Formats: sequence, structure tokens, C-alpha cells
Amino acid sequence: MNQKRIVVIGGGPTGLGAAYRLHELGYENWVLYEKSDYVGGHACSHTDNYGFVWDEGGHVIFSHYPYFDKIVDEMLGKEENQLVRESWIVREDLWIPYPFQNNLRYLPKLVQVSCLLGAAQAAANGKFQDSSNFRDWILATFGEGIAEAFMFPYNFKVWTTPLELMSKSWIAERVSVVDFKRLLENVLYERDDICWGPNNKFRFPLYGGTGEIYRRMAQRFPDKIRIGKELVVVDAAARTVSFSDGSGDTYDVLISSAPLDLLVGMLKSAENRLQDAAADLQHNNLLVLGLGLEKKIDTGKCWIYFADQDMPCYRATYFSHYSPFNVPNGDTERYSSLMCEMSFRVGESLDPSRVLDQVIAALIRAKMLDEADRSRIVSRYHRTVAYSYPIPTLGRDRALATLQPALLEKAIYSRGRFGAWRYEIGNMDHSVMMGVEAVGHALSGEPETVFHGS
Ligand SMILES: Cc1cc2nc3c(=O)[nH]c(=O)nc-3n(C[C@H](O)[C@H](O)[C@H](O)COP(=O)(O)OP(=O)(O)OC[C@H]3O[C@@H](n4cnc5c(N)ncnc54)[C@H](O)[C@@H]3O)c2cc1C
Repeated sequence: MNQKRIVVIGGGPTGLGAAYRLHELGYENWVLYEKSDYVGGHACSHTDNYGFVWDEGGHVIFSHYPYFDKIVDEMLGKEENQLVRESWIVREDLWIPYPFQNNLRYLPKLVQVSCLLGAAQAAANGKFQDSSNFRDWILATFGEGIAEAFMFPYNFKVWTTPLELMSKSWIAERVSVVDFKRLLENVLYERDDICWGPNNKFRFPLYGGTGEIYRRMAQRFPDKIRIGKELVVVDAAARTVSFSDGSGDTYDVLISSAPLDLLVGMLKSAENRLQDAAADLQHNNLLVLGLGLEKKIDTGKCWIYFADQDMPCYRATYFSHYSPFNVPNGDTERYSSLMCEMSFRVGESLDPSRVLDQVIAALIRAKMLDEADRSRIVSRYHRTVAYSYPIPTLGRDRALATLQPALLEKAIYSRGRFGAWRYEIGNMDHSVMMGVEAVGHALSGEPETVFHGS
């Protein structure tokens, strides 16, 4: 056998995408190493002691790629739920349908006026192409009223980064923009306008949460997956990898989905310019908070965005609505679950139990729960997740332009949400496809359309 040895690092969507493709091709000489004792990466799911299932933040499946769709079809068969997105924004205890700017009629008149005036000015100026950072782009696109009322506070909660330090290069379909005529008509004709976006319909696994997709993928090639193996050193000259347990392996091609800054730190004698570039990459972390309730919640709502400062989380998801089997025994007559996400900065430490108390109070203010529900909370779940959002800072693209070609010269494909470090291609479908396409490139020189696109 004269096949190149391919080593895959990480059992999340990217690593499993690569693995799936290798298996599909009938390729033999490969192995996947994962540091945890489970697969799925950020797209994993866990069941708590009470039987509630939790994702690492609300994951919904919407895809740009038939190949990814085919994998999900194969893994889930009929065991999935089809959902229609119903999402809302809570601001000062008012409920506004998403997207905010299309539903201004739900706001107090004074705020409506300032949002409309700002949007009219922004539309007249038409200068959003010229803006040099995310904050200016928001102002130039939406105007001051919408920026102050929602875009600034909400985005700061998600990114935990001053918006003027973020670029606008990642935006494309990730942020719903403004059509002033439509926005004005929606107010005047009192019309709801909720259909924006790529994920207004989505699917969700019936059993086991999002992570079920990846558990089932891994079951296709169990003898190729080594869990509990944390990569610690990459010797790119010798083409060897070493793990924290002292073991090692050799490779011809390395496909890594470990965070890029950490990967550079593992390179034996990495040049200074690579270390400097890696230091320019920034991320934040996530606290996932779950409330398992002994209470029926009958709702069509999916998730709620929070812009106000007194709610620590930027989003709450009616997770029991995604699948009945996200609650014990699938008994949604008796149980329900709410899952909330809070971003926090690197270096910041949180007391999850205190945050949970604040979240419960905020959910009661927003009327998602009532006071009596405090005694119906049977599970208070929390999970701290390192590396949740790769932040599109102003220096990001320069750093990546230094790092990625240098790694590829050493036969290292750094791909995936934190391997590529590009939020605009940071979803599960992108990640799986980056793994698939890295294999195609490594073996046959096929183009990597996702990694090089946006
Ligand atoms: C809050 C949140 C919400 C999201 N919502 C959605 C959504 O609604 N829809 C969607 O499509 N996507 C969503 N995503 C994105 C989705 O989670 C990612 O696209 C996907 O998990 C990225 O896959 P990955 O394999 O690139 O990285 P990861 O999922 O991070 O997997 C990397 C794997 O590598 C392993 N690893 C890391 N370092 C090492 C090492 N040194 N040695 C060995 N193994 C290592 C990790 O343990 C992990 O298993 C969301 C992400 C977050 C954080």
C-alpha cells in the first residue's frame, strides 16, 4: 500500500466530514484523533442527570450544500423534526418579531420615529460600502435609531468586543440588512415581516440533540477513531504528531480542526512571524445555561434574542420545541426546557449558578416564565464552552493570510470553525464541507470552494 498517511485532528463536524469522505472513497491509510471522550465538537449534545438533552448553544441545521444534506439524510432518515423558524427580540419587556428592523411597529412611537429617520438617512446616503468597521457599517446600513435600539447592544453581547474593532468583511448573509421602502410600509400598513434569512425553515434530530448526527457519522468507522487523544506537538519538519499521553504518529497530510492559534503554539520551532500572526486571532467563550422544567410549554416559538443589559444571555431557545425527546421520556405534556447562551471574554470568570439566577429573573420579566415556575425547575444545567465565536477583528484577515499558506506548505490543512477562524464559514455545513474538501484537495488537487469562498 502506497497511500499517503492522513491524520485528522478533531472529531467535530470538520474532522468527521474529512473522515466520512475518506471512508466513502474507500481510503485506508488514515486515522482521526479527538481529545475528548466523545465526538461532535461544538455540535455535540449531552443528556443531564434528569434526562434533559442540551446542545452547546441552540444548533439548527440549515445548509448550503447538497452533500451535507445527503449526510444528514443518511444519518437521521425519518428521525428528524421539520421546524419553521419563529424568533423574537425582547427589548425593555416588549416583544418584537425578528428581524428587528422589519417590525418597528412593535416599538414605542418615539423609538419608531428615531429608527425610521435614521434608516431614511442611511438609505439616502447609501454609504455602507465605504464603512471601515462593523460599527460604522451598522450605522451606515441601519441608521442611528436601529443601531442604538438593537444592533449595537445585541452585537456587543454576542461578540463581547467593541464593534469598531471588528471588520465588516464577514457579513454577507449573516446580518439582515435594510430595504427602507419595505420597512416604512411595514409600519404604515401594520404588517408583520418575518421571513428573512437562510434559516427560516430548519430541521432537528428527533433523538439525542444535534450531536446525534455526529455520533452516527462516527459509528461508520469506529476503528479509525481514537478518542481521549490530545494533540500537543506538531513537528512539521519530521511530519510527526505527539499526544499528551506520550504517544505519537506520523503523517503525510495533517487535517486539523483544533483552534488555529493553539495549533501554531504546538508547532515545533514555529517562526516568530507565525506566532505573531496567531496572537492576532481573537475569540470569546460561552456559558450554556439550561432550565429543565416540570411544566408543559406549548409554543411555536424557537428562539428569542435579548438586547437588554439586565439579561446576561443574548439568546434563549425553547429547546423542548425542537424535539419532544429533548425532555425526559419525550414527555412534553409534563416537561419543557429552555436553553440560554451567554458570551464572555477570555480571562473573565463567571459563577454559573449566579448567572442562572439572573437569567431566571430576566425570563420572568420577559414573561417566558412566571414566578410559580421557580419551583417547577427540576434541572439547572450549565456548561462552559471555550472557543465559541471566532471574532472577525480588523487584523484577522492579515493574520490568516500569513498563517494559512505557511501551514499548507507544511502539508497542514487548518480547517473548520476555529481551524479556518472565519465566522462567515463557521457553521456545521461549512465545517463538514471544509473537511470533505480538504481531503479532495490533499488527494487529487480538487478545489476547496468553501474554504476559499465565503
Ligand atoms: C453557540 C453556538 C451556536 C451555534 N449554532 C449553530 C447553528 O445553529 N447551526 C450551525 O450549523 N452551526 C452552529 N454553530 C457552529 C457549529 O458548532 C460549528 O460549525 C461546528 O461545531 C464546527 O466544527 P469543527 O469541527 O470545525 O470544530 P469543533 O466543533 O470545535 O470541533 C473541533 C474538535 O477538535 C477537538 N480538538 C481541539 N483541539 C484538539 C487537540 N489538541 N487534540 C485533539 N482534538 C482536539 C475538539 O475537542 C473538538 O471535538 C454554533 C456554534 C456555537 C458555539
